[in-house]
Amino acid sequence: LEKVPSDIEIAMAQTPKPITQLAQEIGLLPDELESYGKYKAKVELSVLDLLPPHLFGEGKSTTTIGLAQALGAELGRPAFACVRQPSQGPTFGIKGGAAGGGYSQVIPMDEFNLHVTGDIHAVTAANNLLAAALDARMFHEATQSDKALYSRLVPTKKGKREFAPLMFKRLHKLGIDKTNPNDLTPEEITKFARLDVDPETITWNRVLDTNDRFLRKITIGRNPTEQGHEREAGFDIAVASECMAVLALATSLEDMKNRLGAMVVATSKQGDAITADDIGVTGALTVLMKDAIKPNIMQTLQGTPVFVHAGPFANIAHGNSSILADRVALKLAGTEEGDSSDRVGYVLTEGGFGADMGMEKFCNIKCRVSGLRPDATVIVATTRALKMHGGGPDVTPGKALHETYTKEDLVTLKEGCKNLVKHITNSRKFGIKVIVAINQFATDSPAELALIRDEALAGGADAAVVSNHWAEGGKGARALAEAVIATCEGSSDFKFLYDLDLPIEQKISIISKEIYGADGIELSDQAQQQIATYTRQGYGNLPICMAKTQYSFSHDPKLKGVPSGFTIPIRSVRLSAGAGFLYPILGDMQTMPGLGTRPGFWEVGVDEAGRVVGLF
Ligand code: ADP
Repeated sequence: LEKVPSDIEIAMAQTPKPITQLAQEIGLLPDELESYGKYKAKVELSVLDLLPPHLFGEGKSTTTIGLAQALGAELGRPAFACVRQPSQGPTFGIKGGAAGGGYSQVIPMDEFNLHVTGDIHAVTAANNLLAAALDARMFHEATQSDKALYSRLVPTKKGKREFAPLMFKRLHKLGIDKTNPNDLTPEEITKFARLDVDPETITWNRVLDTNDRFLRKITIGRNPTEQGHEREAGFDIAVASECMAVLALATSLEDMKNRLGAMVVATSKQGDAITADDIGVTGALTVLMKDAIKPNIMQTLQGTPVFVHAGPFANIAHGNSSILADRVALKLAGTEEGDSSDRVGYVLTEGGFGADMGMEKFCNIKCRVSGLRPDATVIVATTRALKMHGGGPDVTPGKALHETYTKEDLVTLKEGCKNLVKHITNSRKFGIKVIVAINQFATDSPAELALIRDEALAGGADAAVVSNHWAEGGKGARALAEAVIATCEGSSDFKFLYDLDLPIEQKISIISKEIYGADGIELSDQAQQQIATYTRQGYGNLPICMAKTQYSFSHDPKLKGVPSGFTIPIRSVRLSAGAGFLYPILGDMQTMPGLGTRPGFWEVGVDEAGRVVGLF
């Protein structure tokens, strides 16, 4: 372990090539590139003339990058990695950076881990503008008569009243077929001007990209100027916001606008869903996110291309990088629709956390929207994680590892391999071919690595390969890359796990039983009411995005291995109508993380030369 310097030392020792040079190498035209500094750029969506599929992927950052380096720099194939932009929550909290590690990293790693080109800030701004607009609207409705409200919403300009263009959507929704604001009847004026939000039903939280647990529940409107219009509200982390999910799932600028407009913030006292369109903020949200929609291009340590775009967490959001980045990468990889003999290059798209989280949501949510199908999935396994699932003691950040993790322990490891086999079985349920990448640590013994390989193959993996990309870069992942190429040669038979037409409860139950191994689910009263409301409002046919701990197949982080005999409690269900999914919250899962006693930020700073230190 000691031989490999820290992630930031390795990353800083390598000078990236100018991003314009990389762009030229992969066939981007100067007009298609918008540089942000020397080493990052946004890619114009004009690159796409809407092409279809062939991608594979799934894995964790270091392996995704190592494999991309092996395919691209070692085997000379056009190879693109598509990863998420890291949130500052984990960067300064428990996890450190997410640029990969060792000799498999995205560079410049400090820029990758901090602001990139500001997309998460744009998402935060959009989300919070909508939150402010909603509360302000409720305040104005509460303090003004119908007529006063109407004349302020549709003011007289140069002696003439005119509807703002966005108002026609609301008029249409209300069935008011009039274009002249002076023609509305008093009843129509009331219907139009009053959203009549039921404050109990507000689901739109404010967001921030900081682990700030004290914002989970707050009281807003406490200044006297708000005239007693206080209410309980809360913050989520920005990367769990619906605006972030919209960015990740949008297929064009127009599609992003439509999704933003369809986002539901609350229900009216009459029982109707209230959307961003009703509040009139869709255009402004789109403007705030119009640059964020362009994928960012960066590079690996070996100079191969990496798209960094969107950053939804995989436990409390859908956990996958953007559809647009995948599509641009596919286009540039020269991969055509049709049979696999047309394939020129490879696109590795990363799904977060275990195959029960990022991969399940990749298949059931992202693939439905993109229409793309993976050729194979790469599951990353480490002795450390498997030993923990086999009964090894908990690992505490900052504390020395228990010797189970640093010395050979075939018994614990073998027990833990059952967890890996369950992930393989789960992937098979989607009809996807599985390659297990055994991410080698310096302390792994040959017998341990062989045991994982044998168990993975016996458990149904198409291939299982030891990969040493952390210590050796792309060279260390050559065998993995060759296994990926070979596995992708054959055809695959992708299928979804559930039918969208099933009732909401049944879809949640299928994921819980099939993927998590639960006996069933238990809905709280609140969850039952929410499901009834969404079904009545016509949102029953959306896919499901489970918010669940990443530490266990179950809702309980303590249940390791392959737990059985448990029931999943569903605390509440949120609606993400614009992103296009329903979002059940399992057990104690929080949508705003906290900071531990010893967060990562203690290490982070700048040295005398102004260089960032301490990110890892
Ligand atoms: P994930 O994407 O699964 O969260 P990362 O790829 O970000 O994990 O890696 C987390 C940390 O573990 C990084 O600091 C990385 O340098 C380190 N790491 C990854 N693979 C290895 C390895 N084979 N040996 C030692 N450290 C590793």
